[in-house]
Amino acid sequence: MPGGVPMAWMKGLYRTPPIFVSHGEGATFFDVDGNGYLDFNVCDLSMTMGYGHPAIEEAVCSQIHRGAHFLLPGEDAIVVSELLAERTGIPCWQFTLSASGANTEVLRIARFLTGRDKVVVFGGHYHGHIDETLVDRKDDGVKQALLGLPRDAALDTRIVPFNSLESLEAALVNQDVALVLTEPALSNCNIVLPEPGFLAGVRELTQRYGSLLCLDEAHTFQFADGGLGRHWRLGCDFLVLGKGLGSGVSFGLYGMTDDIAHVVARHIDIDTGPAGLATGGTLYASALAMAAARAALEQVLTPAAFERVTRLGARLADGLDGLFESKNLPWKAFRLGPRSGYCLASELPKNFNEAEVSLDYEFIDSRRVFMANRGIWDAVASAGPQVSFAHTASDVDRYLATAGLFLDELLV
Ligand code: PMP
Repeated sequence: MPGGVPMAWMKGLYRTPPIFVSHGEGATFFDVDGNGYLDFNVCDLSMTMGYGHPAIEEAVCSQIHRGAHFLLPGEDAIVVSELLAERTGIPCWQFTLSASGANTEVLRIARFLTGRDKVVVFGGHYHGHIDETLVDRKDDGVKQALLGLPRDAALDTRIVPFNSLESLEAALVNQDVALVLTEPALSNCNIVLPEPGFLAGVRELTQRYGSLLCLDEAHTFQFADGGLGRHWRLGCDFLVLGKGLGSGVSFGLYGMTDDIAHVVARHIDIDTGPAGLATGGTLYASALAMAAARAALEQVLTPAAFERVTRLGARLADGLDGLFESKNLPWKAFRLGPRSGYCLASELPKNFNEAEVSLDYEFIDSRRVFMANRGIWDAVASAGPQVSFAHTASDVDRYLATAGLFLDELLV
């Protein structure tokens, strides 16, 4: 295994030697030496139900017993689609193995529907392992952000600053953009909240210039009941979810309007027929993933559970603000539902340039190691501590007490 890990991020995300894990229980996981870590990262939100949640365990184990996958639909697919339609307001659904896979398919469908190639994302974006979105704005234009991508990966991508409708309009006005892809609030450069009216403006501009709009709620679906799109009453053409809904079973999914679904249904790729849409994979929509998602939607993600994690998220953010104030640090806590974090400035950021100030890797890395040595697993660099559905108020208080010790150490 290059780097000693089965997947490079297991080392790269933490920039420390990797911890080898033995098991997890609720909000805590344990390493092979028996040390416990109260987890405020929950696998970058892919384990927000907690480790070994009894309802998920029961659903997944029983499905394994009855067959994990059939390459055919089962009853759970109907229930999951109906529940998602009810919760999000988006009527039709398709399933993949990851949010990357869902965004890939959305982009392809949008290109087919519009006959255009370009995609617009906002600075500070992350939408998964897709050539067109693994790009950054550099001094000489939009360029590949990572190695191994084709030279022309950035050719079809425009990056505009979040919260700037003027820049977005300039990117759309040529009417060559298939898709605007964005999170409702950026969650991969800490948190950047939309200013009042910004997202309604995004919707209006995409409609005016004939582009489609996808809200990527792979993270933010867990920030409010039905996702932020529902919570903030946003309109969109596609909605991408993933990660946490599978509770560790590979899972991604995208919702679409009835009109789009009709086109998709008319262009299914039939093995021997004329070419259809480039979607699908042999392990997509497995019975196992559907069982995990159904259990999560029916038994874990209840309105009461969202209320509880939102309250705990506020407790975490209030606690961090209290620490900053008591230590005379001119900082602010990020706050969005269960997510908080350290804004190393007195004003919350409105775009990626302003958010970058808080991506101070020495601060983040030293905090992570300090906390890990005291049994707390802090968030990855691009995120902030996150309350999962398995955390309790005393877990939050333990995080805050340890964070207080870290800040004291830092200020000596
Ligand atoms: N969209 C967003 C907003 C994400 O944060 C991520 C992963 N962090 C992805 C898509 C990709 O998810 P996955 O790694 O499951 O493909």
